[in-house]
Amino acid sequence: MGKKIDCGKVNPASGCHHIVRGKTEEEVLKNAKAHAKEHGMLEVTPELMKKIKAHIEDE
Ligand SMILES: [Zn+2]
Repeated sequence: MGKKIDCGKVNPASGCHHIVRGKTEEEVLKNAKAHAKEHGMLEVTPELMKKIKAHIEDE
């Protein structure tokens, strides 16, 4: 079972419906960081990281 993060849940204001996926928590976080860059967030702050982690779901 993999992990996923719904971008629209982390940041509803973005209007983004991208689902970030990964096999492990580590991988999904790595992919989420890469996706954050597409939103112009070049730096993932500890605060944002907390928010992202709170939205990791099992798939
Ligand atoms: Zn997004």
